[in-house]
Amino acid sequence: MTATPPRITRIRDVLIERELDALMVTNPHNVFYLSGFTGTNGTLVIDAERATLLTDFRYTAQAADQSPYFEVVDGETEPRNRLVDAFGDAKRVGFDDADMRVKPLEELIKALEDRIALVPESGLVESMRAIKDDDEIDAIARAAMIADSIYVSLAEEGLVGRTERDIAWRIEQLAREGGATGLSFPPIVASGAHGAQPHAVPRNVEIEADQLVVLDLGVIHDGYCSDCTRTFATGAISDSAREAYELVLDAQLKSLAGVVVGAECKAVDAIARDVISADGMGDKFGHSLGHGVGIEVHELPTLSSRSEGSLVAGNVVTVEPGVYLPGEFGVRIEDLVVVAEDGPRVLTPFTKELVTVG
Ligand code: ZN
Ligand code: ZN
Repeated sequence: MTATPPRITRIRDVLIERELDALMVTNPHNVFYLSGFTGTNGTLVIDAERATLLTDFRYTAQAADQSPYFEVVDGETEPRNRLVDAFGDAKRVGFDDADMRVKPLEELIKALEDRIALVPESGLVESMRAIKDDDEIDAIARAAMIADSIYVSLAEEGLVGRTERDIAWRIEQLAREGGATGLSFPPIVASGAHGAQPHAVPRNVEIEADQLVVLDLGVIHDGYCSDCTRTFATGAISDSAREAYELVLDAQLKSLAGVVVGAECKAVDAIARDVISADGMGDKFGHSLGHGVGIEVHELPTLSSRSEGSLVAGNVVTVEPGVYLPGEFGVRIEDLVVVAEDGPRVLTPFTKELVTVG
């Protein structure tokens, strides 16, 4: 008999709070969070006594291995019937309405024949995921240290004369060599005026001397992501570029200091925005300050002017102000930070002083 995992206990508490008999989980990131299962076809049904993982023949052995607490069901032949079986005598079943496609949902509702009410509960598991336990923070910290070693290597190797795509590929190589299972997202390598696009796609264009280069990258380790941005100089840069860098760094340091337990998410965003606006560059900082990072590279909580809610211990967020001058350059500096009782714990140690590389 496997002991009940703490996350399943929490789900069962939530079922009682929300007067649900069971929860159906379809989002693969939420399935991984609750069961450890990493296959591409998995649906969980959790009620007060049972925990069922429906998958198909390709994954039954893997599921039994990764999810010992769950009863694994090969639902391939009649997935909907198996799901109805897993619901048992439940009357109210919560599901993620933001994740389910309309057609499978309609078919499921039909199969349930009014015996079971499906209750929209999107965000329920996501809000649990926003608060990380120590093992999760360790995994994110290790992913961040692999990313850190990539910045160290790139600073040594230099950028000038290599294309943005070459650097993106080099980042991928270094990530794998460092023990990552993959990248959190396609890396951003954006030199000169291209850096003014916050989500620039690497080009087949050589990086020139005397420019700013925005490098935004993250890796996956043990199922958890990291995310970090540094902006390098490739030689002498203009006074306006240097001033923009110092401005972004000032905004980054001040807002980072505001990442404390109890801080309102929108107030943390406002710290950086006020610094940049006071310099007349407010309209050049057009994105939010940061986002949660974990199993996904963008998750809760969000640090933006529209955010509701406050930071709690165990949140892991980015702090990434930037300024973007079309036709000239961009600057962004991004750290990954754990919200802790004793203050912000930065997971991305690479220097934030402007580094000049060849
Ligand atoms: Zn990033
Ligand atoms: Zn980010």
